[in-house]
Amino acid sequence: ALDLEQLRASIRTVPDFPKPGIQFRDITTLLSEPAALRTSVSLLADMARDQGATVIAGMEARGFIFGAAVAIHAGLGFVPIRKPGKLPVETIGVDYALEYGTDRLELDPSALAPGARVALVDDLIATGGTALAAAELVKLTGAHVAGALFVVDLPDLGGSTRLRDADIPVHSLVSFD
Ligand code: IMP
Repeated sequence: ALDLEQLRASIRTVPDFPKPGIQFRDITTLLSEPAALRTSVSLLADMARDQGATVIAGMEARGFIFGAAVAIHAGLGFVPIRKPGKLPVETIGVDYALEYGTDRLELDPSALAPGARVALVDDLIATGGTALAAAELVKLTGAHVAGALFVVDLPDLGGSTRLRDADIPVHSLVSFD
């Protein structure tokens, strides 16, 4: 297994994406390195277990990559939290604010068993808007949010603090200032 410094080094930083001045933290390079992928999935699965999760939910699209792998590793099922219009059944949805405009996440509420304890998984938390919307969706079904797990935290953007202020336990593997 890699240590966290090696895991951090496997993440590529791309300047000026998606727009000038933004340093995009890109997990493509982590995914292609077997030891980095295995280490990140194994550590996130440990955290899901510590949070008492009974199911993993991942946010489209990079949350699907890590979330499904974590679910398999932890012996749990996986529930996709999707972009609008993708699910073929009646969904519940939550709209949330972006820097410009709004976005929306949707969930098939029948995918979560009554009393489920859900660990949310995504590649990265920035402002926390995506994770808070996902947590709201889970709560709308009556399920419990056990916690939120990320490979990368950008703490200066305040998302992990916002989640903790909402009483959601947060764990990330590495952070970038
Ligand atoms: P938030 O909603 O502001 O916390 O942004 C988190 C969402 O945007 C996650 O789904 C991330 O995949 C994506 N995101 C934001 N910034 C970055 C970045 O620097 N690298 C990769 N994904 C990012």
